[in-house]
Amino acid sequence: MDRHAEIGSLPRGRVAVIGAGLAGLSAADVLSSRGLSVTVFERSSEIGGLAATRESGGLRFDYGPHRFHTKSSALQARISGLLGDDLLTLERKSRIRLLDRYFRYPLELGDVLRRMPLHQGAGMVASYVWSRTRRALAPSDEGDFESWVVGRFGRRLYDIYFGPYTAKLWGRPPSSLSSDWASQRISVPSLSGLIRETLSPGESGARSLVSTFSYPRTGIGRIAEALAARLAAAGGSIETGVRPERIEPLSDGCRIWAAGGEHDFDAVINSAPLDEYVRLLGKALPDDLHEAASELRFRAVVFVTLRLSGRCPAPDHWIYTPEAGYEFNRLSIPENFDAAMSGTGGQITFEFSCQEGDATWEGGDELSRASVEGGAKLGLLLKEKVQGSTITRQSHAYPVYDIGYSARTNAILDALQVLPRSVTCGRQGMFRYNNMDHSIMMGEYAALELLGEGLLRDMFDWSKSTWADG
Ligand SMILES: Cc1cc2nc3c(=O)[nH]c(=O)nc-3n(C[C@H](O)[C@H](O)[C@H](O)COP(=O)(O)OP(=O)(O)OC[C@H]3O[C@@H](n4cnc5c(N)ncnc54)[C@H](O)[C@@H]3O)c2cc1C
Repeated sequence: MDRHAEIGSLPRGRVAVIGAGLAGLSAADVLSSRGLSVTVFERSSEIGGLAATRESGGLRFDYGPHRFHTKSSALQARISGLLGDDLLTLERKSRIRLLDRYFRYPLELGDVLRRMPLHQGAGMVASYVWSRTRRALAPSDEGDFESWVVGRFGRRLYDIYFGPYTAKLWGRPPSSLSSDWASQRISVPSLSGLIRETLSPGESGARSLVSTFSYPRTGIGRIAEALAARLAAAGGSIETGVRPERIEPLSDGCRIWAAGGEHDFDAVINSAPLDEYVRLLGKALPDDLHEAASELRFRAVVFVTLRLSGRCPAPDHWIYTPEAGYEFNRLSIPENFDAAMSGTGGQITFEFSCQEGDATWEGGDELSRASVEGGAKLGLLLKEKVQGSTITRQSHAYPVYDIGYSARTNAILDALQVLPRSVTCGRQGMFRYNNMDHSIMMGEYAALELLGEGLLRDMFDWSKSTWADG
C-alpha cells in the first residue's frame, strides 16, 4: 500500500513525539502549528538533547562546540525567524595540536608544510603523492576507515593525525570502522586544489579555514528553547523526566505506556535512539530486527567544563588534540562563541570520549585534573586561575559506524517505514552521524509524512550515504 494511504488522515490529531532534542521539537513545532495536539515525552529533565545549553555557577556552556550551518535557505530562514537578532554570524576558528604546535583546521597543505618539521613534512608529501598515484593506478577495496583515509591522504598524515584521533574518539581501531564515517565527514581536496592552497594560502574557497556559521546568543540551546516556546504557545506539551515503557501500534494509531499510565495517540514520531524504539515496539517487530538493534552501538562523551577567573587566551572556537599525551580529544571555548556565555570570567570545555558505564564515564576529579594539566600544557590556562569544574555526560553522542552497521540500520528502517502512523527520525532515531540542520529537517519531514505531504525517505534516504556531510 502507498505510504500516504497507510498513514491516512489523522482524524483526532493527537500525536506523541518521543524525545525533545532538535528533531523531536522540530516535528512537534510543525504539527502543532498545523493544529494537531502534540505531547512530547523526554526522558531527561532538560530539553535540547545534544544541542542543549547548560548553566552552572552563572556561566553557560554547550555539550562541546556547536555551530549551526545549513545549505537550505528555507531552514536558515526558519532558524532566523525563531531567534531574530539573537542569531549571531561567526567566523569559524579552529586548530589542531600536533607535535607540540598548532595547525589550522581543516588542515591546509601549505600551513602543514610551513609548520611541520622539515623531515615530517617531506615524508608526508611523498606518502601523499605515493598513495594518490597508487590509488589512481590500482584502486583497492576501501571499505574501512583506515584504507579510505590512507588512500586519499597518505600513510604519514594518517599516522600523525587521522589514525590517533579516530582511535581516541571511537575507542577502537580505525580499521574496524566503516569508511562511511570518513566519506560523510571528511572533505577531500583535489590535488590541484591543494597546490592552489599551498601557493596562495587563504584564497581557496570551499576548504577555507574561515567559514561562517550561525550561533544563538547565550548558547546553542536557544534553538530548542525557542521551538519549545512555540510548541507551548500552540497548546502542545513536553513531559520531561518521562521515558515511555512500551508502544503498541493500533490500526488507527498507537498506545503508549508512560509515567504509570496508558495513553492513546493517532500517531507517533520517534527521535529516541533506534535500538530503544525497536525495544519499545516489542512484538510488533520480528526477532531478527531486535537482534540487529541490539548490535547498534553508541559512543558516549564526558564533558569537563573548567571555570577560569579570566578569559582563555586562545581565539579558537575549538581545538582538536589527537595525541595520546592528552586524554581529551577536543576542547572548546564558550566565550569565543558568545562572550556572554562566560560572564566576566572564562571557561574551557574538554571532551573525553568513552563507553557508557566505563571508567571514564564514571570519572570525576581525575578527569578535571587531566583537563587542568592538559589545558596548562597547551598554554590555555594557568592552574591557579581554575575556580572549579562541572562534569556533564551524553551517553548517545555518536552512532558507531562499525563494519556492518549499515545493513543492520537499513533493515530496521525499511521495516519501520511500513509501520502505519509511525515515523522515526533524527540522529538517534535514524542512527545517523548528522548535524543539527539535518535533525531539524528530519523532524520537519517526519511531520510532513504524517500529514501526508511528503516522505522523510525522499529527503533522507538511509540507503545512501551522501547527505550527512559535516
Ligand atoms: C560533541 C558534539 C558536537 C557537535 N557539534 C555540532 C556542530 O558543530 N554542528 C552541528 O550542526 N551539529 C553538531 N553536533 C550534532 C548535533 O548535536 C545533533 O545532530 C543534534 O543535536 C541531534 O538532535 P536529535 O534531536 O536528532 O537527537 P538528540 O539531540 O540526541 O535528541 C534525542 C532526545 O531524545 C531523548 N531520549 C532518548 N531516549 C529517550 C526515550 N527512551 N524516551 C524519551 N526521550 C528519549 C534524549 O534525552 C534527547 O533529548 C554535535 C554533536 C556532538 C555530540
